[in-house]
Amino acid sequence: MNIHEYQAKEILASFGVSVPVGIVAENVKKAEEAASELQQKSGTTAWVVKAQIHAGGRGKGGGVKLARNLGEVTTHAGNILGMQLVTPQTGPQGKKVNKVLVQQDIYYPGESPIRELYMSVLLNRSTGRNIIMYSTEGGMDIEAVAEKTPNLIFREEINPATGLLSFQARKIAFNLGLSGKAVKEMTRFVTALYSAYMASDASLIEINPLLKTSDNLIFAADAKINLDDNALFRHPEYEQMRDLSEEDPTETEASKFNLNFVKLNGNVGCMVNGAGLAMATMDIIKLSGGEPANFLDVGGTANAKTVEAGFRIILKDSNVKAILINIFGGIVRCDRVAQGVVDAYRSMGTIHVPVIVRLQGTNAQEAKILIDNSGLEVFSAVSLQDAADLVRKCV
Ligand code: GDP
Ligand code: MN
Repeated sequence: MNIHEYQAKEILASFGVSVPVGIVAENVKKAEEAASELQQKSGTTAWVVKAQIHAGGRGKGGGVKLARNLGEVTTHAGNILGMQLVTPQTGPQGKKVNKVLVQQDIYYPGESPIRELYMSVLLNRSTGRNIIMYSTEGGMDIEAVAEKTPNLIFREEINPATGLLSFQARKIAFNLGLSGKAVKEMTRFVTALYSAYMASDASLIEINPLLKTSDNLIFAADAKINLDDNALFRHPEYEQMRDLSEEDPTETEASKFNLNFVKLNGNVGCMVNGAGLAMATMDIIKLSGGEPANFLDVGGTANAKTVEAGFRIILKDSNVKAILINIFGGIVRCDRVAQGVVDAYRSMGTIHVPVIVRLQGTNAQEAKILIDNSGLEVFSAVSLQDAADLVRKCV
């Protein structure tokens, strides 16, 4: 599950990770009040106004603005709230901004230089261990740094039996070029960050920029957290952080039926059991000249109800010119799925696009007979090649 920056910072703060003080606001008046309140609390006389959307690169798109007085808070909040923010991560249509985070400016001048660093915690799947990835080159495109100067990205692997050890935290601080008080601040920061990652069941925490202030304090200037959906049941307090307005409505609907659905931009809808078969089916669609309109894994327990829900979701997409159902009957018998398809089709009235059904495995022959005799505009295929040929005729 993705959450907003302000929510990520709430989680981090609850584990003692230092974040700038900030208040989220959904209108200009609240943003002004937030700025005044922060001034009273922290004495700050400058603020950053930050668009809250589920995408990064907001700075580049004009979604992060510095306000040097209260009047500028009003102007920036007015401009950012309601805007359709386009960033390198949103796609050309952008995302509507419903909330801004008003935050104390921590880039104030002082004795020593301000530095923008980078840090993330994530699972290294090839070793099965968590790693802390960090770099002196924060603030900008970390992907570009990784590509052009990979030597500037450090990795610290954590042994699950010991957790993060204090020498590792110190090593990180030294590799980041810190000295004196900043080393102590950084070791405390990294330790708290890693415990936040573990305890929140996050699959990713990314801090970019990780700021060293001019008075040698360390702050998460930005924060991104992905929470592991499979562990959410352990964190009811995080479940309510879900912002449905940030999600594709068809994906939200699909999740109600436990369908694994990702919307894509093609013209052939597909419904498949098993993620691997779904990927292979999308390949087949492409090879036959179509483009997949979605990824949809109905799981191992497909029945008439889930098939119908899948149908309805796919048909909401007006780009869809044909639907390919590709089911392998292992645990679930093909004739049951076929019956589900026929029932769903009948209960939905007319479906205006051709439906190609390929059922293979247990009771595949019975399933084919069921579909061929249904009198519906459903084409059955047995081999993948047949299915591909039928798709080619339809698109
Ligand atoms: P992103 O573009 O979505 O990753 O959003 P960030 O939170 O990283 O903000 C983008 C840029 O705004 C950062 O790289 C900083 O240079 C700048 N920025 C973020 N917070 C502050 C702040 O408190 N004060 C100032 N002056 N600049 C900030
Ligand atoms: Mn950032």
